[in-house]
Amino acid sequence: MAQDLGFVLAGVCEAAPIRADRAEAFKQWLATGQHGEMGYMAQHTPLRIDARLLLEGAKSIVMVADQYASRNDPPDVQTSGIGRVGRYARADDYHDVMKKRLHAMCDALAAQHPDIASKAFVDTAPVLEREDAVLAGLGWVGKHTLLIHPRKGSYLFLGGIITTLDITPPKRQKHFEDHCGTCTRCIDACPTEAITPYKVDATKCISYLTIEHRSLIDPEYHKAIGDWVYGCDICQEVCPHNSPRSGKFGVTKANAAYSPRETLDASQGNGLDLLAMLDWTESDRREITRRSAMKRAKLDMLRRNAIICAANARTPEIEARLHEIANDETEPTLVRKTAMQALQA
Ligand code: SF4
Ligand code: SF4
Repeated sequence: MAQDLGFVLAGVCEAAPIRADRAEAFKQWLATGQHGEMGYMAQHTPLRIDARLLLEGAKSIVMVADQYASRNDPPDVQTSGIGRVGRYARADDYHDVMKKRLHAMCDALAAQHPDIASKAFVDTAPVLEREDAVLAGLGWVGKHTLLIHPRKGSYLFLGGIITTLDITPPKRQKHFEDHCGTCTRCIDACPTEAITPYKVDATKCISYLTIEHRSLIDPEYHKAIGDWVYGCDICQEVCPHNSPRSGKFGVTKANAAYSPRETLDASQGNGLDLLAMLDWTESDRREITRRSAMKRAKLDMLRRNAIICAANARTPEIEARLHEIANDETEPTLVRKTAMQALQA
């Protein structure tokens, strides 16, 4: 059923608590404040550790994955004055793309088994999806903390269904051991040194800083942010499991539903014009990010990010505009202060 609905991977695991060492690592990550301003991560910890608390009588979890980019895609074209958007946010919002099909699976299960209850989730419930994906044989968690499948790579969205139906995993379901081995490419390439093996300090991660962090970004990270105006794919780009050279595994194809949106120009690296972004209004933000995962970012945050990237690509035109913003008392504090910091860097 999952295959017919276009999911690239699917597997089943028992609805049970996640591995004790993984639960401990998660608690440690929270206790050391590495989740930053993502306060929601610290909520519902018991549910994140034991998904059975989500649905009374839960017996099984079906985990699925959509592929949103492929190792065979051409590398990004980097153009001065263009801010790059993380691959996951270049297309229509994956929550919408996946949820409809997961609900279709729930409906089909209910049609076959009228007495069961099922609940779909795509980032929408306090579930540690990666942990269940490992148990369901979808891959392993790499040193950069993302799920990797040896043939499909890591550009994967995860979703699932928790159900009271007791489903036996198919006999051919695999279990993948950690294939990171002695590789440290993601750790070495991360521009902010956010990765220690199997742990990412979100407060240093460009993805977190540009997507989740709502206040000023520490100027210490401005240069490292480079041209990443929303998200960062560096640790995934350098991973050998996403490399086109791992051709012995054949060609991987992204789901067509995740083709980059028309508001991102492929000839400019699927990015956004930074000078234009500095002057975005709320209606520009709404129009350009409509239906995309970027729509959740506030205008001031996006303009803050654009200022940092623009300062890194400094042209006389950008410099002049940054001075205007820094001196304009009508600008929001976040935007104005970021312009001041960026000019001093
Ligand atoms: S997303 Fe970027 S900043 Fe974050 S851990 Fe990966 S390489 Fe580092
Ligand atoms: S880059 Fe290397 S260490 Fe990092 S996740 Fe990929 S295989 Fe593992």
